[in-house]
Amino acid sequence: MGQKSPRSNNKSEHIVKIPHSSGVRLVAGVVIINFVVYLLVGQMAGGYPAHWGKEAAVPSMLLILFSLLTVLPALIITRQRTYGLAVTEALRLSEKKYHDLFVNAPIGIFQRRLEGSYIDFNNVIMEQFQCRTPEDFVAHYSDVANRWVEPEELRQFNKLLLENGAVRDFNLKTQLCDGTIKWFSLYAILDSTKLYFNGFAVDITERKRAEEELNHYREHLESLVKDRTAELALAVTAAEAANQAKSEFLANMSHEMRTPLNAVVGMTTMLLRSDLDATQRRYAETVNYASDILLLQIDNLLDISRIEEGKLEIESSPFDLADTVAKIFDIFSFGAEQKGVTLELQLDPDLSLNLTGDPGRLSQIMVNLLGNAVKFTDQGFVRLHISAEAADEHHAVLRFAVTDSGIGIAPDKLAHIFEPFTQADSSTTRKYGGTGLGLAISKKLVHLMGGEIGVDSVVGTGSTFWFVLPLGKQPAEPLYGQVNRAGAPVPELLLTEGKHRGHLLLAEDDPVNQQVAVSYLERLGYSFDIVENGHEVLQALTERDYDLVLMDFMMSEMGGLEATAMIRDPLFQVRNRTVPIVALTARATVGDREYCLAAGMSDYLTKPLRLEALAATLAKWLPQAPPAVTIGAADDTGTSEQLSDDRELIELFCQEASGYIAALERCLTEDDAAGVEHHAHKLVGAARAIGARRVADLGAEMEQLGIRREMAEARQRQQQLASAFQSLVEILTLRAE
Ligand code: ADP
Repeated sequence: MGQKSPRSNNKSEHIVKIPHSSGVRLVAGVVIINFVVYLLVGQMAGGYPAHWGKEAAVPSMLLILFSLLTVLPALIITRQRTYGLAVTEALRLSEKKYHDLFVNAPIGIFQRRLEGSYIDFNNVIMEQFQCRTPEDFVAHYSDVANRWVEPEELRQFNKLLLENGAVRDFNLKTQLCDGTIKWFSLYAILDSTKLYFNGFAVDITERKRAEEELNHYREHLESLVKDRTAELALAVTAAEAANQAKSEFLANMSHEMRTPLNAVVGMTTMLLRSDLDATQRRYAETVNYASDILLLQIDNLLDISRIEEGKLEIESSPFDLADTVAKIFDIFSFGAEQKGVTLELQLDPDLSLNLTGDPGRLSQIMVNLLGNAVKFTDQGFVRLHISAEAADEHHAVLRFAVTDSGIGIAPDKLAHIFEPFTQADSSTTRKYGGTGLGLAISKKLVHLMGGEIGVDSVVGTGSTFWFVLPLGKQPAEPLYGQVNRAGAPVPELLLTEGKHRGHLLLAEDDPVNQQVAVSYLERLGYSFDIVENGHEVLQALTERDYDLVLMDFMMSEMGGLEATAMIRDPLFQVRNRTVPIVALTARATVGDREYCLAAGMSDYLTKPLRLEALAATLAKWLPQAPPAVTIGAADDTGTSEQLSDDRELIELFCQEASGYIAALERCLTEDDAAGVEHHAHKLVGAARAIGARRVADLGAEMEQLGIRREMAEARQRQQQLASAFQSLVEILTLRAE
């Protein structure tokens, strides 16, 4: 333990007080003594002042000299004494000031040697450190290595002090004499002798406590934030997984729904092309209408997830607007007619019809709007009006307006009507059904195509849903034949039932889908073989030449992608590695197309398979029947026929067309106008396929008469038609010989 040299805390007075007047008294004393000496000397010399004479001169001089020798030193001593007293007093005052400061300062002050012992300290520091006596304090805090302060901290403190000559705000945690723990901030200045330092201690326990509390809160907050962030990250991951699962689910559902729908659409198409009486035709048309609407709903469901993922792509291809609109009206004419609602189309006369854009998406918007209009209108009309808002040589801005005389929409619902899953009210939903997706998707699509969409509506009077779209204009000539993409016109000839060149391989394991594809291929006149998985495809391609493979995407054992990869693989020995492969898939998600093409497939068809799309795709990849030749035969109108020289096709035509002629006869006898329309239509298709114009034209007239139910006129025409057909058969027979 170090030594204490206490001082000022019990301080006594050091300076003896000497009155200021003592010097004056000394001088006065000396002067009086001088006067007495003067009188004595005068007595000895004969008395003053009468006998003061020459004899007194010596004693007087001595006296004066004596006076000078005594009074002067007295004066000097007095002066010096007065000065010494003043200095002592100043020192005393300074000492007192320092002492007062030392004692009364609100902070602990101490002087301490570097080796650890204390020179001095004030009472405050004892109070601060809860020590009852100075000895207590000294006992606790003298030793550098004592247990009340961390030795390392003290070492650090001394190091700083020696290095810098001072230490500022050195925070130290220590145990007080009474055992409590407190924080102090130390300030220290090293004395010039470097033997001791003056120190100041400020109790900062409260500040530290507040800091600790703050730290605690901060840490708590940080851990809360961390927890929440982790929870959020988990939630985001879960949401992403859920979203992914939803997309997967939608894709799978779409597949699951499209597969049976494929059968419905395919079989209905076949049914409508067969011999049906009027009632059967109605039924089939109802099924057809319903499956078209169902397909639209599935597309909407798929599209909403694609839009959410930002994966929806807009195409740009040439299309014929009239053709697109006609196909859409085909869908709704039946539903509207059943409700007694008139379906009207108004195309402005100056409208360009040969456009470029995304006809599929455009159709989807129109189908959504027209579908709603028909759905929410119980009487009156639904009208589609298309006009040009602006146009130049290469561009046109078109306005599409679908107006109905239906139930209308309340003003407060109008603002939200384009949001997903929004329906005007629950009673409407109960009565009319719906998903609340159609308008949301239409809006997204219009925006993706750079357009605007809106609605005006009056409850009880009707609504007008409109959209404005910028589209491209095609060069003057429409590009028929080059345009075989979805929604684009397909040459009539391709749809015609008949015989086409090319031997195909159909790979499809689902029996229903297989049947649909088979019936379409038969209708289109292609010959083909059927296999049911990728292994069988490879086997077939090793054994014989095929002109094209129609390959299902998902098959058991080996799917379409895998099989394609092997066909294209140079190490694998198929007869024709470059054979065109067209994928058939029910998934119809954006990525699938890329997958197919990346895997080496040549093209892509979605299910439900459409006859038109299949025909167009096959036409694109397969060599067509050779061009028709002019045979110089003239019929009774004098028109040259451009008859095909494909013998198989001609043969097939002769068989089928005579069937149609016979069916027409029967329908005319039975007064069945719908039957007349149907069989005449069939005959027209077949006749056009071989280039028999005369029969095709007469057939078309007959079809119109059937539509207009002008049966008397039709009977007269039948004669003409039958004889034209007869002469055609003769020409064909002659040519064959
Ligand atoms: P859905 O028709 O499948 O419910 P939509 O998004 O197409 O979904 O339409 C949302 C809602 O807007 C409908 O439920 C209906 O309440 C209202 N609506 C849309 N079109 C019309 C219309 N032409 N007339 C009256 N209400 C309409």
